[in-house]
Amino acid sequence: MQRVREVLRAVIEFALRNGRKASDSETVQIVEEKWPPDQQKDHPHLSLYRPRVLRWARALAQAFDPTNFVGATLREEPFEWTDDSGVSRIIKLQLIGHFDDGNGDHFAVALQVDSADESAAEVKWSQLKDYQRLPFVLLHQRHGDVQPRVFVGEKGELLSFRWSQRRPEESTRVQADAARQVFQRLTSGIFDGTTNDWACDRCPCRTICPGWIGAIQKDKVI
Ligand code: SF4
Repeated sequence: MQRVREVLRAVIEFALRNGRKASDSETVQIVEEKWPPDQQKDHPHLSLYRPRVLRWARALAQAFDPTNFVGATLREEPFEWTDDSGVSRIIKLQLIGHFDDGNGDHFAVALQVDSADESAAEVKWSQLKDYQRLPFVLLHQRHGDVQPRVFVGEKGELLSFRWSQRRPEESTRVQADAARQVFQRLTSGIFDGTTNDWACDRCPCRTICPGWIGAIQKDKVI
């Protein structure tokens, strides 16, 4: 999915830098440059994924209108947290767009493959899992003013995100605090993951997972 995000990020950046949507041929060129046909050519599902990313890129090129964000400047700085020993660590937000418009309004665009509600014109707080809305939560905690957007690939639509309507500030703070606590514990050598044979035996990280190789203290093993 990282490759897909890079392609989609390039589509948004093209539009913002040029002040117009990418044409179809320019969109195809972006896809070819960001994901050349010979890259990952041994992947068994490449024949599904490359056409899909082209379809999503074309849809995003149409859905993302840079004239709604006149004077935009890209935010390129990484999002960092400092651990208890003073080491800065980059938290990957995995956004496909992150910028300010000419008024100084701050936007963050994330990718979702699909949406549970086909007809919805926006994505509700409760429709995303914790980890899916975490980038928005962390940015909101740090900057206080982020306006999230969600590009739903299979719908080809760019939707607004609705913050929790029930005590929004508290919901955001609680999730950000929980993430911060996990970060501090993990960087202090405490692994909070819940390991179990059923889930972990199918996990590609099984052989390098700190919970299994004993590289880090396990608080929970069931
Ligand atoms: S092996 Fe580790 S990373 Fe993978 S599911 Fe289990 S606890 Fe999570």
